[in-house]
Amino acid sequence: MSPTSADKRTAAELAAALGAGETSSVEITRAHLDRIAVVDGEVHAFLEVDAEGALRDAAASDERRAAGATYGPLDGVPVAVKDVLATRGLPTTCGSRILEGWVPPYDATVVARLRAGGLPILGKTNMDEFAMGSSTEHSAYGPTHNPWDLDRIPGGSGGGSAAAVAAYEAPFAIGTDTGGSIRQPGAVTGTVGVKPTYGGVSRYGLVSLANSLDQAGPVTRSVLDAALLHEVIGGHDPLDSTSIAQPLPALVDAVRRGADGDLTGVRIGVVKELGGEGYQAGVLARFEESVELMTKAGAEVVEVSCPHFVHALATYYLILPAEASSNLARFDAMRYGLRVTPDDSEKGVPPSAEDVMRATREAGFGDEVKRRIILGTYALSSGYYDAYYGQAQKVRTLVTRDFEAAFEQADVLVSPTAPTTAFTIGEKVDDPLAMYLNDLATIPANLSGVPGISGPSGLADEDGLPAGVQILAPAMADDRVYRVGAALESLLVQEWGGRLLDQAPPLVEEGVQRSSRNQGAPS
Ligand code: GLN
Repeated sequence: MSPTSADKRTAAELAAALGAGETSSVEITRAHLDRIAVVDGEVHAFLEVDAEGALRDAAASDERRAAGATYGPLDGVPVAVKDVLATRGLPTTCGSRILEGWVPPYDATVVARLRAGGLPILGKTNMDEFAMGSSTEHSAYGPTHNPWDLDRIPGGSGGGSAAAVAAYEAPFAIGTDTGGSIRQPGAVTGTVGVKPTYGGVSRYGLVSLANSLDQAGPVTRSVLDAALLHEVIGGHDPLDSTSIAQPLPALVDAVRRGADGDLTGVRIGVVKELGGEGYQAGVLARFEESVELMTKAGAEVVEVSCPHFVHALATYYLILPAEASSNLARFDAMRYGLRVTPDDSEKGVPPSAEDVMRATREAGFGDEVKRRIILGTYALSSGYYDAYYGQAQKVRTLVTRDFEAAFEQADVLVSPTAPTTAFTIGEKVDDPLAMYLNDLATIPANLSGVPGISGPSGLADEDGLPAGVQILAPAMADDRVYRVGAALESLLVQEWGGRLLDQAPPLVEEGVQRSSRNQGAPS
């Protein structure tokens, strides 16, 4: 395969080719590393590429296969990992200067399970600093570019994982979703993303943003790939006290059940509060078409109301900063990464531990992180605790009750994933409130811990950019989002005569040489 022509096969197709002896893991892994070398100078999806480690693991996978002793269905299929998950021996920065140079001595459980499944790890993907953001512009290492239009954002915080998958730099990837960071990047890059039920995938080794909201999950180009990857990383983990001690539902089976596109008898609830004002016309049009397709396929569509969802964003932006301010206290210049020792000439005495902490946190954290630490410590301070944090927790309960009532009327709930298509780099980066609004539709699921999938719904008429549809189900009914997600995917693929990414522009189609922003392939 020439370096500029992408390997567009899904992970399931690659696994089948490996199983049939048509290719090797080394060949597949090298093809993706070549693709990274050609396009990532433009896309900047990766913070770290581990060519040596990936090829070594690929060779080991090929040996296992030759010996008839593969580890599992995805053995040999390479994967990219968001840089918020600890990887032994491989730098983990969370997109922050404060973790520059930190090499974890252990693997996150998700990473350990990827390795135990035989998946070579291509590298670590870019993200908003500590997963705070919706555009990947808050990365201390520079933004990631959307492969559909390099001047636009790939969503966030997991824009690196989504862009890597959309640009065929990786067959699939791992992301994390605290308020939408798997689903919203999925929507704006035309890829598939799943936020599993809270507690369904271990958080051990996932650097906490807000531990009551964070959940790792798959970022892929097909619903089947997401289910395959979810089954590798999911399930109970005694190392995570919030991990659910129950077996995962059968996800790949659910995809196979949905693949014929038949939705007879499935009750689909359109959430009244997640649409209308604030949503781009083209995004709404594609969403309505998806609902129509599902109706034609036999689904019973009802409108449901979740009145407290209008407060979800405000609630999230109290709970998240509160938890984040506490979590980020561990970056104290003593234990990890960066240490800045201030000049002692100012005070005339050697700097104290506090001076070092202050200087390190001042230099190591970006503006958005500082903003949220200030917000969070304020919301938690005595005198304001009840008025802000305590009140937010009460509204969180009301959001959960809305979900419970809605799931009595419908098996799954649907809405557009993000209110708009990808916006231009620079457009919202200095306007925190405008940035926060991108997660309007994704946040309720995190507040209540329910699972959700986002898949492409088509291209918006105004700008020709991908829009997404999200499907939510009750906690531990992840199989339901896969079944309905697979059905909708197959209906849409029939409608389009192929996958949405097939309609993507030159960078993705033929290599970066055709990109208007080409500055030459990186060496
Ligand atoms: N964009 C949201 C935020 O800034 C969600 C982030 C996430 O899911 N990690 O907090």
